[in-house]
Amino acid sequence: MASRNCPLCERAAEPWFEREGLLRARCGACGAVFIDPQPDDEALRAIYGEDYHIGTGDPRQDAAIVEMKRHGARLTLEILKRHVAPGARLFELGCGRGHFLAEAQAAGFDVFGADIAPDSVAAAAALVGPGRVRCGVPEELELAEAGFDACVLLDVIEHMRDPLDTLSRLRRSLRPGGKLLMVTPSLDSLSARLLGSRWVEFKGEHLFCFTARAMRTALSRTGFSVRELGGAKKALSPEYVLLHFVRFPLPGLGWAARAALGLLPEALLRRRFVVPAGGMFVVAERGGAGKSAT
Ligand SMILES: [Zn+2]
Repeated sequence: MASRNCPLCERAAEPWFEREGLLRARCGACGAVFIDPQPDDEALRAIYGEDYHIGTGDPRQDAAIVEMKRHGARLTLEILKRHVAPGARLFELGCGRGHFLAEAQAAGFDVFGADIAPDSVAAAAALVGPGRVRCGVPEELELAEAGFDACVLLDVIEHMRDPLDTLSRLRRSLRPGGKLLMVTPSLDSLSARLLGSRWVEFKGEHLFCFTARAMRTALSRTGFSVRELGGAKKALSPEYVLLHFVRFPLPGLGWAARAALGLLPEALLRRRFVVPAGGMFVVAERGGAGKSAT
């Protein structure tokens, strides 16, 4: 098969492996891994169905998951507060059901968000106020130029069809000196290195996976300078991890996860642990004109 160039750094990439009909290529220069060709819109819509955000229908289980996500949001907010003072105008792309926005608002940020899922937008607006959350993808949102002090993308950039285009749009929506905070799965993580092509983050909707080098390249090409980059931590409960394995089963693990959910005591299942979770965070500052900014 012919090699093609990496969309992030334009150097040569080679086919790596195929899973569930999706072919992944790896860039020999920046190490990015991307799906090529990308699934069409219909295939992605099927993935982003109503049950995309793990919910169980069990109110106590769902409440515990929300508490866990709020805990994770507070950890992420601590990173942002090292670079942006409360009071700042903040925009979150892919805000989901608004857990991070709600924590940021409680900490004094002036929060706005957008998501592609209408039910998520409604849930987020109920948390942070009407008029603060919109429905759409970056191309549709017509973000105000230099309208924000900070942009936040939590587990979002890996879903974008064209990360450089998304970053360029966000750069324009930031005031000069404004900050961008992203969290995304990291190919440099121990779990990625150990699992290779079986890494759990190689999902059909993760169109791009980044190394730190790929992330730095994408940011510098779109007019950002990196201020801080490190391993992301998440608050996870054993229950949530097991539900994840029921939903995205690794061979032979689905039944074991289901069994563990039935056997372990609730207090242990719902206890939250702060762990390195195979992701990276990066904080970057809007600098001069990026190469692909227009
Ligand atoms: Zn590359």
